[in-house]
Amino acid sequence: MANNYYDLLGVSKGASDEEIKKAYRKLAHKYHPDKSGGDEAKFKEINEAYQVLSDKSKRAQYDQFGQNFNGASGFGGGQGGFSSGGWDFSGFQGGGNGFDFEFGEGGFEDIFSSIFGGQTQKATRKKRGKDIQVDVEITFEEMVNGTTKEINLRKNTVCDVCFGTGGDSGAKEKVCATCGGNGRVQKVGRGFFGSFSQVVECPDCAGTGHVYEKKCSKCKGEGKTIQNVKLEINIPAGIADGQTISISQAGEAGGRGGRSGDLYVNVHVKPHREFARSGQDILNSVEIPFSLAALGGDVEIETIESRLTLKIPQGTQSGEQFRIKGRGIPDLHSGERGHQIVKIIVRIPKRLSREQKRLLEELRESGE
Ligand SMILES: [Zn+2]
Ligand SMILES: [Zn+2]
Repeated sequence: MANNYYDLLGVSKGASDEEIKKAYRKLAHKYHPDKSGGDEAKFKEINEAYQVLSDKSKRAQYDQFGQNFNGASGFGGGQGGFSSGGWDFSGFQGGGNGFDFEFGEGGFEDIFSSIFGGQTQKATRKKRGKDIQVDVEITFEEMVNGTTKEINLRKNTVCDVCFGTGGDSGAKEKVCATCGGNGRVQKVGRGFFGSFSQVVECPDCAGTGHVYEKKCSKCKGEGKTIQNVKLEINIPAGIADGQTISISQAGEAGGRGGRSGDLYVNVHVKPHREFARSGQDILNSVEIPFSLAALGGDVEIETIESRLTLKIPQGTQSGEQFRIKGRGIPDLHSGERGHQIVKIIVRIPKRLSREQKRLLEELRESGE
């Protein structure tokens, strides 16, 4: 995932399917692991790139989101996906979750073993950065057409001087003296029921178990600094109100080599004065005079793009619906558009001129 798929294949973003295929064949031939001078890792990367770029919908999605897009978990409300997974012991450090426990002589190792699966000695953990959630509001039109939104975040960012290591350039790493390389220290305090021990992250090495002889001067050894960051978020056409786009590792930097958290963009679609959404269809209604409904004729209607003339057949009833093909909302993945469904409301006049009244009375006498 490290490289841009287009760069990997050595083609431009606008490359045709044929060009992509040609480039892939040439590179696959060159790096095939069975050949002398082959490179299995490279071969795999090329294959991954080709799998995406040779598939029309995958390619479109890739163009929209880049490789940070996590298609599988990105859509569908994402709220459940916030357990940070892996090595995030944020509940463990501060005692905020009441994570303190008592033990006697020798109990320390046992408890530790059960929590860390026995890796007590060298289980230095890199702290994962926090996830960030933001809300973005888009208009109905932007939802239909897709859009780009700029968001501004103030967040922990990987230090650009030490590239997140926390060490000064050329400084040697050594085992942290405070924790002896463990990454954790035992804190003893006094509580209501007597003294207690609490295991906390080592403050000197941020839990990594090692320190640099000289710390990076910019981030003071943290490996991260607070920055204002501008991000462009591509919002795909057809996204539903309340859907979440997840962007892997665009959250807070972990610092000291830890993985960055993820960014979750919750998308809200503003209601439209004219249109409503039903699946991939756009719904609206139009009022027509009852004479037009009875006799048939043309009526102008609005679509997302333009105004259109809709032919009303003779004898159209109030509540009847007409379908305008392909003027609906694009499918998020295939891009295929739904339809616009126009509901006809027949307007009965509230006031009539003398002439109109005479004509209607004539109509009544004829039995209608
Ligand atoms: Zn630094
Ligand atoms: Zn330490």
